[in-house]
Amino acid sequence: MPSINLVENYENIKQRICGACKRAGRAESEVTLIAVSKTKPISMLEDLYNHGVRHFGENKVQELSEKMDALANDTHWHMIGHLQRNKVKYIANSVSYIHSVESVRLAETISKEAVKHQRTIPILIEINAAGEESKFGIRPEETEAFIREISGLPGIKICGLMTVAPFVEDPEDNRTVFRQMKQLSVDIEAKNINNVSMRELSMGMTNDFEIAVEEGATFVRVGSAIFGERDYSI
Ligand SMILES: *Cc1c(COP(=O)(O)O)cnc(C)c1O
Repeated sequence: MPSINLVENYENIKQRICGACKRAGRAESEVTLIAVSKTKPISMLEDLYNHGVRHFGENKVQELSEKMDALANDTHWHMIGHLQRNKVKYIANSVSYIHSVESVRLAETISKEAVKHQRTIPILIEINAAGEESKFGIRPEETEAFIREISGLPGIKICGLMTVAPFVEDPEDNRTVFRQMKQLSVDIEAKNINNVSMRELSMGMTNDFEIAVEEGATFVRVGSAIFGERDYSI
């Protein structure tokens, strides 16, 4: 028996996204809520699936593969965590988006695996927006050059940017970060680089997703507010 009401939590987040869209004059349909299910059992994902949820986010390849196998194949899987090149092959056939591309070598590997599977994998470029030492990601000022370098690779389609904003007590403190991300994506879109679209902006988590939506997020990645706190000790 789950002690939390997953569906209620999910609907509550949807409502709050809706509110943020209204405040920003955006259509709710512009924002996709990704249920970040890492560490959570398949039964919980199934409960949400039965409620109509089709977008799940995971940060580990093995866990992602197991969950992919367990759920129906109309589910969209988002790889949101740091991705090792030797593991790309396990998800290349079925992942919907890889949000965490932050090196040329990783992009090349994804390209190679995608070509093997005769598909195009949509990818997002992970940006270290606040320049934190501890975080993965391309620095904002290097983003355009990075994108130009990988944009010609076959089998990938660059669809936008992703960031993990700093942990802050007051989510308002991340508004500037989100605004800079939006501006960066607008600037890059304006360059009209072949094979590059800046349609998607993946930002906002449990703590700050409403601010992210107000500033232009199209994917929000929410875990604990839906599934409850994660327990890494088990
Ligand atoms: C875990 C995780 C999330 C979700 O975090 P919550 O604060 O639980 O909503 C979002 N994005 C990434 C990249 C994550 O690793």
